[in-house]
Amino acid sequence: MALSARKPLPQARLDRENANDEIYERILVAIFEHRLPPGTKLVEERLAEIFAVSRARVREVLARMAHEQIVELYPQRGAYVAKPTPQQAHDVFEARRLIEPALLRRLIATLTPERVARLRQHQELEVDARRRDDKRTIVRLSGEFHTLLADLAGNSALARSMRELSALTCLIIFLYDAPTATSCRADEHGEIIDAIAKRDATRAEKLMLEHLAHIEGSLKLDTATQEVDLEAVFSS
Ligand SMILES: [Zn+2]
Repeated sequence: MALSARKPLPQARLDRENANDEIYERILVAIFEHRLPPGTKLVEERLAEIFAVSRARVREVLARMAHEQIVELYPQRGAYVAKPTPQQAHDVFEARRLIEPALLRRLIATLTPERVARLRQHQELEVDARRRDDKRTIVRLSGEFHTLLADLAGNSALARSMRELSALTCLIIFLYDAPTATSCRADEHGEIIDAIAKRDATRAEKLMLEHLAHIEGSLKLDTATQEVDLEAVFSS
């Protein structure tokens, strides 16, 4: 039986989408781990070499990330890791305050022992990373906790939004956080998981809003919004 060397189209398309997803995930993880700071130039041909794919495929991934505001594209100059402004940072936290309580309610309404176990497993990874003082892993796992909640809540559109918001939060923390701080406080994720396990939606939502307020409060957004008045500086 003669087999065609060419794969049927659906499989080929699936492979391409999987490859794009993998490149997307690897760039996203690098952002989560603060290995790709805001403003980093993402050179198409180098990424194509690194991932052993065509430039066109890299361009597709970068276009998707640009659509999600994680990457900024400039004609003639190329792609850069986004640098969210203080206003965009406020917008991200406002969106998170709306989405994350809703995700928690949905997760608790559909909770299974397996989902609680998955959350506990993640918590152990975070505790372990903190014990080793592995800053990159701590930052990544902190962001992933929130995307995991969204994944487990089982609404794909909300999960997708949460993924974007988490990536943007990582960039924002990179830009506006105190250098010594690491996004999420250790004990707070554990408390949220406890409330979920007890199916206490009111408490889980309250803890989440406090948690987000702590993260946003640790950022120096207000100083960054002040424009320096050069005349005032040199007037005396
Ligand atoms: Zn957190």
